[in-house]
Formats: sequence, C-alpha cells, structure tokens
Amino acid sequence: MSSRRQNPYRGADARTRAAKAAGFPARSVFKLEEIDRRIGLLRAGMRVLDLGAAPGSWSLYASQRLGRGGKLVAVDLAPLTVALGPQAEVLEADAFAPETAAALATRGPFDVVLSDMAPSTSGDRFTDQTRSFDLFCRALELALGLLRPGGAFVGKIFMGGEFDAARARVRAAFDAVRVIRPEATRQHSYEIFLVGTGLRAPPAPELAEPGA
Ligand code: SAM
Repeated sequence: MSSRRQNPYRGADARTRAAKAAGFPARSVFKLEEIDRRIGLLRAGMRVLDLGAAPGSWSLYASQRLGRGGKLVAVDLAPLTVALGPQAEVLEADAFAPETAAALATRGPFDVVLSDMAPSTSGDRFTDQTRSFDLFCRALELALGLLRPGGAFVGKIFMGGEFDAARARVRAAFDAVRVIRPEATRQHSYEIFLVGTGLRAPPAPELAEPGA
C-alpha cells in the first residue's frame, strides 16, 4: 500500500486536516465559523439558505448550529458529499435558473442567506472576477427576494474592479455592511466576503412612488 493510501490527507495543510478530522469535507468551514463568531450570525431555530453548498462544509456547520428546530436549504450544481440532518434539504440546481428561484420561493422566508459560490477558475483573473461578480449579484438578488426583514446576507466575491459596486449594492439594502477576509483564507486567494446585516423592509408602496 502506498503512503498516500495510508494517509489520504498527506500534503494537505493543517486546516484541511483539522476540518477532515472534525468531519467536514473542506477547510472552508473555518471561514464560516469565523464569520459566525465575529458577528453572531447563526442561532438555533433559524432558517438558512446556503448557495454554492458543495461539498458541504458550510451546510454541515450551519445545520449543526441551527439544530433540529431550524431549517437549512442547500443549493449547488454538484452533489454534497456529507450527510445532513432531517432539518436540511439539498437542491442540485443552478442558482441562475428561474426554476431554482421559484423552488426557493416556496421554502422561504429565510433568516440568513449564505453564498460561497465560486466559478471554476479559468486562469484569467479578469474573467474569474467577472464570473464571481455575476455569482455574487445573483446570490444578492435571491437574498433580497427570500430574506425576512432584519435578515442577513454573506456573499463571497473575488476582489476586483467591481468590488465597490458590489459593496454599494449591499449597503443600499442592509443597515450594516462588513468586509471580512477570514484567517482561513489562503494567503494568495483574492476572495473576500461581504456581509450585510439588518435587511431593511421594502418601503410601503405609497412611499415608494411619491405622487403615484
Ligand atoms: N461552501 C462550500 C463548502 O463549505 O463545502 C464550498 C463551496 S465551493 C468554494 C463553490 C461552489 O459554488 C462549488 O461547489 C460550485 O459548484 C458552486 N457553484 C458555482 N456556480 C454555481 C451556480 N450557478 N449555481 C449553484 N452553485 C454554483
């Protein structure tokens, strides 16, 4: 038997090994754990939507935090590799598809929408940033339609020229916006998380269009 087969995590970094040892498929769990710890994001009984959920570290962490009284809906193009509890539902679906939005509308409203969605990287930084911005904007669009007033949004984006526009979109809808680069982010990664808390209720129709 080769040494790699004896130790499947050989060559993995310490965070990857720690995540696997704790039952999580990916080191990304430490990013959500840090965001949760810093802003008090997740509580028992909450309803959470996790976009870009595969292989499943965030969904597993969130479903543990929510407990049996909570509800987690996980969405990804790819299947998850973890078993989640009965409070979780997995949709193998494209976040851009109108049918996905329709399916999610029947499962909301949510207290928290998470998006760790990322494009398959092309090697061209500008292309990857543009795709990441598109995924971020789609996640935010879904969040604005599915969150309850007061709810929170966490969205990943690759740093680039459109970062300020992305932050402005979050600022326009939420009471507070934070930019978080978790310690578990790989040193050379240019990903960052925009966090909006306190979704403002939409204005009453008569206030939305003065004089209408
Ligand atoms: N949060 C995950 C975890 O902790 O295991 C890791 C997410 S991984 C960094 C990014 C995911 O985004 C990939 O699994 C990918 O399939 C998903 N993704 C990319 N584009 C998507 C789309 N249009 N709809 C749904 N998921 C998408």
